[in-house]
Formats: sequence, C-alpha cells, structure tokens
Amino acid sequence: MEATVDKFGLRHHMHFRVECVSASWNEDGFWDVRLRDLMTGTEYARTASILVSAVGGISRPRDVKFPGMDTFQGEMFHTARWNHKYDYRGKRMAVIGNGCSAAQVVPEVARQVAHVTQYARSPQWYHERPNRRFTCFERWCFRHVPLLGRILRLRLFLASDNMVTTYGPGETATRLRLRAEAHARDYIVSTAPQKYHHLLVPEFPLGMLRPFVRRDSSPSPPDRSAGCKRRIFDPGYLESLHLPNVELVPHGIEAIDQTGIVSTDGVKIEFDVIVLATGFDIQRFLAPMEVYGRGGRSLSQQWQESRGAQAYMGTYVNGFPNFAILFGPNTFPAHNSVLFASEVQVAFIAKTLLAPVLDRQLSTVEVKRTAEDQWVSRVHSRLRGGVFEAGCSNWYINSHGRNSASWPGYAADFWKESLKPQRGVFLKTRQSPWWMWYRAKRWMRTTSWTAYGILGLLMLWMMGGQRSGLGIQSSPRLGV
Ligand SMILES: Cc1cc2nc3c(=O)[nH]c(=O)nc-3n(C[C@H](O)[C@H](O)[C@H](O)COP(=O)(O)OP(=O)(O)OC[C@H]3O[C@@H](n4cnc5c(N)ncnc54)[C@H](O)[C@@H]3O)c2cc1C
Repeated sequence: MEATVDKFGLRHHMHFRVECVSASWNEDGFWDVRLRDLMTGTEYARTASILVSAVGGISRPRDVKFPGMDTFQGEMFHTARWNHKYDYRGKRMAVIGNGCSAAQVVPEVARQVAHVTQYARSPQWYHERPNRRFTCFERWCFRHVPLLGRILRLRLFLASDNMVTTYGPGETATRLRLRAEAHARDYIVSTAPQKYHHLLVPEFPLGMLRPFVRRDSSPSPPDRSAGCKRRIFDPGYLESLHLPNVELVPHGIEAIDQTGIVSTDGVKIEFDVIVLATGFDIQRFLAPMEVYGRGGRSLSQQWQESRGAQAYMGTYVNGFPNFAILFGPNTFPAHNSVLFASEVQVAFIAKTLLAPVLDRQLSTVEVKRTAEDQWVSRVHSRLRGGVFEAGCSNWYINSHGRNSASWPGYAADFWKESLKPQRGVFLKTRQSPWWMWYRAKRWMRTTSWTAYGILGLLMLWMMGGQRSGLGIQSSPRLGV
C-alpha cells in the first residue's frame, strides 16, 4: 500500500488525523466540507466539487452497554480500538463475544496472557481455513513463471465467488448448505476439545431456510428458520481452546463491576483487562458524519424514511449531487472480498462522475430517484429468501428487518452491472462545449512516459512499414 502511494505520488494529497464532521451541498453547486484536526481540535471548512466517502463499512464499533461497565477499574477496549500501549502479557483477560473478531483475538493473545476467558452467548459455524503453505518450488514458480500468480489469484476469486450458491434460496442452495454444515460439524468435533463440543456446534443449521418440496415424494427436511450468521473460517481458534489458560464460558454478561464480570449464570470472575469483541455498527453508514444534500436534506433522515440505507449501485443517492459512497449499502459480498466491490465502485465513480466533472463535460451528476428505487428493489427482491433473512440476529439486517448490507449475487455480477451503459440513470448539468479538449489535455497529462515511448515506437514501426510498402509499389512505375 505504501509503495502504491509513492508510485502514484499520492502522499502530498493526503491529510492525516483529520476527521470529516459534516458536508453540505450549497446553492453554488459545491460541497462545503467541515473538517476537524484531531491533533489540535480545530475545525475548519473546505469546498469541493466532488465528495467521495471512503469511511469504510466495518470500522465503527457497535455501541454496547453492560450495566456497571463504566466502573471497571482495569483496562477495557473494543477490538477496533485496541490499546497497543497496554501490555497484556501475564494478565487475566476477558473477551466478550464470539464472532470473527473474537476468533482472531483468542488464539493470538492466548500465547501471552496468564488466562483468557471468552464469553460466548451463542455458537457459530466454524470452517477450516483453506490456506496452505506453498512449497519453495511453488514460490519460485510464482516469481519466475509469467502470469502464474495471477492465474492462482483468479482461481481463488472464482472459487470464493462460487460460494454464493450456498447463500441463496432454493433446493440446490439448501443441499449445498447442508453439505457445508456437515463439513463444519466434522471440523469442529475433530479440532475442538470434547468438553466444548455441545457449546460449539450450533443448534441452528447453516442451513435450512424453509422446507423445500422434493420432486420425488420423500419427506422434506424439517423447517428450521435460522442459519444466517456469518461463517467463520477458523484462524486457529478451536485449536487454542485446548490450551490450559483458555476458558470458554457459554453465557452472556449480567454486569461489570470494578474488578470483573458477572455472567448471566451469576458467576463472577475478576479480570485485569476486558476486550469487547462485540462487533461493528454496520447499518449506520457514514455515521457520525452528517451529509446534507439539495435543500439541506439530511442523508440520515432520507435513509430513515427509506427504512435503511440505500444507494444506486451502493454508490449514488438521489438528492445528493456529485456525491459517491465506497463500500456503500448492498455492496457487501458475504462470500468474497469487499475490496473487489470497492475497486469496482472506484472504476464506476471514475467513469460516471470523476472524468465528466474533471473534463468539464458536466458540472453535476445526480442519480434519479426512480433509477435508485428500481435498482434497490431489484436487489432486495433477489435477497428475498436468502440465508441472511432467515430470522436469526445478524449484522446484515437492520432494525426494520431490511438487508441494507448484502449484495445478493456473484461479486463478478456487481462488476458486470457496473459496465452496463448508464442510460437515463442520471440527472446531468452540462458544462463546457470544449470538454473534448479538456479530456485530451487530461489524457496527455496522465499518460505515462512508458506509454508515450511505446506509442512512439509503434508509430515509427508503422511509418517504416508504410515507407517500404510505397517502395514496392513505386518500383514498377519507376521502371515505366
Ligand atoms: C475483523 C474484521 C475482519 C474483516 N475481514 C474481512 C475479510 O476477510 N474480507 C474482506 O473483504 N473484508 C473484511 N473486512 C472488512 C474490511 O472492513 C474491508 O475489507 C476493508 O477494510 C474496507 O476498506 P475501506 O477502505 O473501505 O474501509 P476501512 O479500512 O474501514 O477504512 C476507513 C477509514 O476511514 C476513516 N474514517 C472513518 N470515518 C471518517 C471520517 N468521518 N473522517 C475521516 N476519516 C474517517 C477510518 O478511520 C479508516 O481509516 C473485515 C473487517 C473487520 C473489522
């Protein structure tokens, strides 16, 4: 990442330790952006023609309140706000939660703490990580055989993308889920200590959403409407439960006092440090930043009215011109990399907003309300009946029961969708009739010297070819 920043000379465009507090679209057609210097606390404003939010989707800790937590005298922090100055070696640690974060924390800290107690209210499906060590020969091949690394990368991407088939509705998806569930059960039982098997293997299936009607008349599997939590690809967590200093407590938190935690079974344990692995606030996109669009309309108010965040291609919101969101609503591929979705969005924003505005072809680009609504309802109808809407609590579903997070299909489909011509989708304000000239200037400015070199060589080669071609034709004439 550092090397990429240097390669493209981006460093001097970046301002660190500065928070965006709010942004408002003004009557002159610009964004007034309010910023706060986190070092000095000074607030100031900047004006911009385009505003792109890249504040992440899984970065804001979920606000959890346990009775008495403010009275705890030891150290307490959320996994996303890890106190790196705190030396936890030899300490008694509590980890609250059992999602992906806790599964990563427990095996890592277990090597150093005196004791770690994990509070886990409900079980999860754990799967073996399909990672393996590459041999020296394979690594040599990756270095020296052209395209080999890229081919492997593509294979991994396609294999991950194919996992989407286990998340949807329908008989085939259900069968695949049941197969994945059987594998996960075998993995948990063969890896974790026996004393924890009954706590670890979920009662809910990975699993079944609704009974499906078999084509033959054999009885359907029972209807167990659950199985919608995010799957965990085990980073060594189950193995770490064998360690003598690791304890799994299958209870929630009743209260926290000055010295420790009282769990819901009434047992109190004392701790030096409490780690909140309690997850992230996924549904409040962009919060606490406030964004105001045309006529001072608040984005959070608009999203309250639509019963959850929504955006065309997870990127553009009606009433908010020249504004784009990365990692926005309905862009999370549960089975593939978020970064891929974000890269698709970057290319989409560059094509539909950045290039036309920079080239002065357009001064404003805004998605039409109908286009946004149609896109969102199409996405939601595809999500219907999928595994995340099966009724268990998960972070994809908001308080209105709406899934504002997931992209329903293959990650590759999101990319294909971004390539479609965007006819009739945007309200556009034209700017300069000379925009072609500005575009040509931009191309000239941003084309690398290598590209110019290749172009020059190509032209020389073509001119050389033409000259020799003329020579062949002119000889007979000369002879005449
Ligand atoms: C435990 C965990 C595991 C994950 N595992 C995976 C995984 O396996 N695969 C996957 O694809 N994704 C995973 N994710 C999701 C991960 O968040 C994304 O893949 C990736 O980090 C998104 O990059 P981003 O740049 O959009 O956001 P982030 O990396 O979250 O970066 C957002 C940045 O914006 C800053 N910011 C926020 N608000 C403001 C503001 N108002 N003003 C200024 N700056 C602000 C933040 O400080 C942060 O630096 C995981 C996330 C977590 C927490």
